Amino acid sequence: MQKIRRDDTVFVVKGKERGRTGPVRKVIPGDQRVIVTGVNMVKRHLRPRGPQQPGGIVEREAPISWANVALLCQSCGKPTRTGVRHQADGRKVRFCKRCDANLD
Ligand SMILES: [Zn+2]
Repeated sequence: MQKIRRDDTVFVVKGKERGRTGPVRKVIPGDQRVIVTGVNMVKRHLRPRGPQQPGGIVEREAPISWANVALLCQSCGKPTRTGVRHQADGRKVRFCKRCDANLD
């Protein structure tokens, strides 16, 4: 089970974007990376490709390693490690190892 999913809010714990938070826009499981909205912006210089794509410089998010982000717990408001446990009905849910609240 993945620890980080789309629409989770995460806290960056390592790298040049350390300390930033944002919602996960995309998870790239093959690369073990995530794209976090507004974090790790890079400028891309685009070549003009016809009238619909005039080129220029655009800023977009670059993926960051999911090892460098921690899930921000909605319940205790802190970056946390997550665990997975089974519910009585057999469902698997993630939980916050800090405050023990269910996250799903
Ligand atoms: Zn918590």
